[in-house]
Amino acid sequence: MESSEAVVDESARPPAADVDVLIVGAGITGIYQLYRAREAGFTVQLLEAGSGVGGTWFWNRYPGARFDSESYTYAYLFSKELFEEWEWQEHFAEQPEIERYLNHVVDRFDLRRDMRFGSNVTSAVYDEPAAKWTVTVDDGTVFRARYLVAATGVLSVPYFPDVPGRDGFRGEQYHTGRWPAAPVDFAGKRVAVVGTGSSGVQVIPVVAGEAASLTVYQRTANWCTPLNNSPITPDEQARLRANFETMCETLATSFSGFLHVPGDRATFDDSKDERWAFYEKMWNSPGFAKLVSHYTDLLFDPEANAEWCEFLAEKIRSIVEDPGTAEKLIPKDHRYGEHRPPFVTGYFEAFNQPNVSLVATKETPIVRITPTGIETTESLREFDIIVWATGFDFGTGALSRMGIRGRDGLALEDHWADGPSTFLGVQTAGFPNLFFPGGPHAAAGNNPRYNGDQVDFITGVLTYARDHGYDTIEAEPAAQEKWTRLNDKWATRPPNFGTASYYFGSNIPGKPRRYLLNSVGRPKFLEECAAARENDYEAFKLLRSSHPRDRSHGCDGRRG
Ligand code: NAP
Repeated sequence: MESSEAVVDESARPPAADVDVLIVGAGITGIYQLYRAREAGFTVQLLEAGSGVGGTWFWNRYPGARFDSESYTYAYLFSKELFEEWEWQEHFAEQPEIERYLNHVVDRFDLRRDMRFGSNVTSAVYDEPAAKWTVTVDDGTVFRARYLVAATGVLSVPYFPDVPGRDGFRGEQYHTGRWPAAPVDFAGKRVAVVGTGSSGVQVIPVVAGEAASLTVYQRTANWCTPLNNSPITPDEQARLRANFETMCETLATSFSGFLHVPGDRATFDDSKDERWAFYEKMWNSPGFAKLVSHYTDLLFDPEANAEWCEFLAEKIRSIVEDPGTAEKLIPKDHRYGEHRPPFVTGYFEAFNQPNVSLVATKETPIVRITPTGIETTESLREFDIIVWATGFDFGTGALSRMGIRGRDGLALEDHWADGPSTFLGVQTAGFPNLFFPGGPHAAAGNNPRYNGDQVDFITGVLTYARDHGYDTIEAEPAAQEKWTRLNDKWATRPPNFGTASYYFGSNIPGKPRRYLLNSVGRPKFLEECAAARENDYEAFKLLRSSHPRDRSHGCDGRRG
């Protein structure tokens, strides 16, 4: 298996350091945390396993990878100058533009000097007497830090299904989540893509246009709808600049961080003709408008959901010429929104090409990978390239593999053996001075908006602790319990959407079934952050290592 790991210039690596804040991960969240922590006056070091910045947007460089939230709403909004000087080319930017943008941000704010690439964290151990973290990377270098911020992302550990023979395949194999830096040449090749989640359905139309043949192995059909991407015209660029503050305000108050106007009518308030006209409008709307601006009962009334699905099934039948293929592409086992809905460009159309075929693996399961191809219960097909678009160990995957040991040597993966428990998705009790913005319970929607809120909150807590002479910050178990219960409860509200998806870890055999996203929404999250700030962060145990007594026992005589 190749990786995106280009050669790292070791001589350019900053040496081991003892810093205030050690950040792991140079994705969108880690970059922002570096900016904010440095701006707040902390000494900072960032460790990144890859050879460049971007995190998820560095590793997922497969052809067709692009945002499905509007580019300008997914980007950083902390600097109006940055917003004004970067002109996104498309409403939904493709991976190369995203990577260029993130590099631009890093250089514009001179962040690269505190970044160390090719540094994969192998252990992170809390040193209780010193109230510091000792972090070791795979070349053996050891770092010390007061605070450890693991901005390691939720989609950073690729998942390969346990199919016999995978390692013995003699052709090329790639996972969408670890795409190589050098372009993969599909021309004249027989290609298989396994998996039809958001990544699979993005890569499939591109490969279909290049390969001699493409066989798509689909286990579960998905409710795909058009992304409806387009270039951003000069007029639109001007409008975006003119409306920066309004856009920020809309995003800050939106439940899930999107610009789309929320729907205001229930399905059966409209006549059938009106409903079909509305569905057509939704079909032609950009990205997540199809969820946010839809009828308000789409996810709550099974009948309403079923009718939208009926409309989508009609659309699929009208696009896909072969009726048998069309039927296979229509989901029969879940409602719209139960799995994360992918947004596509030319996906269903690709199945009309003579070089593209579909294998439904629920009907004819994959039995094994042979040295030359994929064998199902029905046939053996030979391939030059297999693309695994089979997803990730979502939410907790990276955090559970970093060798994190908290108080009394407690292993994070043991602590979360039944699934994650967090306070606001930023901390978990037993792991003082460890924060994980953009991790479990962080987001459910436009991720950078939620994750940016978390970074702002964390920076506030760190600043407060420094300014008041504390050096240990740990979530109070009661506060954590309250947040985790709320998150779990809202996630399973009737009609109980999504329990069969990776939202609950269900895609990984043996993984505990526990909600991994933020079901509570940004407004409530921001409300909780404001409350925490206003009451001097009482949701955290703040201690001084030299006077190891809880401030609630009055050791400091100061409350902020
Ligand atoms: P995913 O949604 O988890 O999809 C994995 C796919 O692999 C599913 O179709 C799954 O089938 C299939 N699969 C897994 N094991 C299999 C097996 N043994 N045999 C056959 N098929 C198997 O992963 P993803 O597509 O990489 O997307 C993950 C998330 O990344 C998305 O939900 C989204 O949040 C994000 N993403 C975003 C964008 C974007 O546009 N911004 C693009 C790509 C990804 P089952 O459904 O049956 O399990």
